Amino acid sequence: MFVLRIQAILFMAISSLAGAEIKVAVLHPLLGDLVQKVGGDQVQVIDLMGPGGDPHKFEPGAKELREARGAQLYFVSGKGLEPYLPKLKDAVGANRVVEVGETLPTLKAEVLCDHDGHEHVHEEVDPHWWHSIDCWRRAATRVRKELAAIDETNADLYRKRASAVRKELASLHRWATGELGKVPVEHRTLATAHAAFGYFCNEHKWKMLAVQGLNRERVDSPKFVAEVASTIRKERVQAIFPEQRSNPKVLRTVAEGAGVAVGKPLIADGGDSIEKMFRHNVETIVATLGRK
Ligand SMILES: [Zn+2]
Repeated sequence: MFVLRIQAILFMAISSLAGAEIKVAVLHPLLGDLVQKVGGDQVQVIDLMGPGGDPHKFEPGAKELREARGAQLYFVSGKGLEPYLPKLKDAVGANRVVEVGETLPTLKAEVLCDHDGHEHVHEEVDPHWWHSIDCWRRAATRVRKELAAIDETNADLYRKRASAVRKELASLHRWATGELGKVPVEHRTLATAHAAFGYFCNEHKWKMLAVQGLNRERVDSPKFVAEVASTIRKERVQAIFPEQRSNPKVLRTVAEGAGVAVGKPLIADGGDSIEKMFRHNVETIVATLGRK
């Protein structure tokens, strides 16, 4: 009996040592996937938005901030995605907020604005870097450095895991390139709901066409719809892809007007796994546009 108790106490001591040593919060579920892979058992990750949220609009409330209390770092996408970032920095301290996007390559996109009935086009930073595998490889290094800076004891572990993640991403990129190669060159235009796939198209040398802007703003004026439909015909676009959790009416109107198919939904802004998102999107695109 006495021996058993000793064993139980020893086991408890070991299991508490094996528990997470650092707590961090993430404001994009895919960042949660990356941070958990690099951090492993040493890091507890609190995902404040969850895989179904809209990162263009999400603001953590009192409940989420309570769950994240004690987090040593907050990993956020950056590149202007999170409108509430200044508030978060005020609440938790700017030195705890890591804008992963700030050290990644930046793409700009042309955005159509409609002010009081007059439309004009201007350039904006495209925040959707999570559709570039190259960006994720760089992000793995950034996460590794940030974790090592607050937990030097486990720096070696973080380095090994980040290197394994980069290798997995490189093989994912090779797979994606091979699959997308099944789409004839003249059909490599990705027409989607909102302009989320700029980094994806840039990485694979595709053209992008979106029926909404970068932030899902409404752009369904008859003039705009007619312009998109005419581009679709000119570029010989084969299909338009809606999004999981967002399927604007304007998309169907444009598809009908231009006489093209509506594909299966893509994952644009959410998801819970980087690899699953890429595999889903690439497989969906190739199933519709690939050589039959
Ligand atoms: Zn988006």
